[in-house]
Amino acid sequence: MIVSSCKFPADTPPDCSLCPRLKTYRQENIQAHPDWFNAPVPSFGNPDAELLIVGLAPGVTGANKTGRPFTGDYAGDLLYATLLKFGFATGTYLAKPDDGLELTRAMITNAVRCVPPQNKPIGAEMTACRPFLKATIAQMPNLRIILALGLIAHNNTLSALDVRRAAHKFGHNAAHPVSNDLTLIDSYHCSRYNTNTRRLTTQMFEDVFVSIRHYREG
Ligand code: URA
Repeated sequence: MIVSSCKFPADTPPDCSLCPRLKTYRQENIQAHPDWFNAPVPSFGNPDAELLIVGLAPGVTGANKTGRPFTGDYAGDLLYATLLKFGFATGTYLAKPDDGLELTRAMITNAVRCVPPQNKPIGAEMTACRPFLKATIAQMPNLRIILALGLIAHNNTLSALDVRRAAHKFGHNAAHPVSNDLTLIDSYHCSRYNTNTRRLTTQMFEDVFVSIRHYREG
């Protein structure tokens, strides 16, 4: 069992049983792979940061195995490379939780903390996990920008903020002022599918971080 080092108070309890389907899947993974993390994946990064990145859910052989969001997931390669390039992280990303990488100026969390079968959380699971997203947002005192990776993260973030979805349509690199001091920025998810099909290129993803830098510097 890999033990997480995250002490963030908004984290989901390791034995969370709010979602029966996800609990069953977790137990199956514990049976099959007792050396994997196999628990709700805690947020990773600096709670004093101005940037929160919201993903979808852990990948089964990525974050669910390693215990750190996007770590070991294909999507993490582009995400962490970009965070390092734009100065949000220090160190080297080696796709394992003990690589020493530090997220100095960002926090990463997921709309759903447990790995879902086929990478697809259902509505009830997003609703059940939303209090943890709300708590994560509430516990970041300097938060200025939320980057939503994909439509599901966008929708869940708006719901967690109690902001009407109809007023804020998802759009790649779109910026939504959700309050006086908080901007939601969207990106296509940096998944293998999106990068392989070139729906999302490295340049497009970096352009989102140029926008983030602009809003952070305000
Ligand atoms: N891994 C995560 O932790 N979240 C995602 O959204 C995708 C992969």
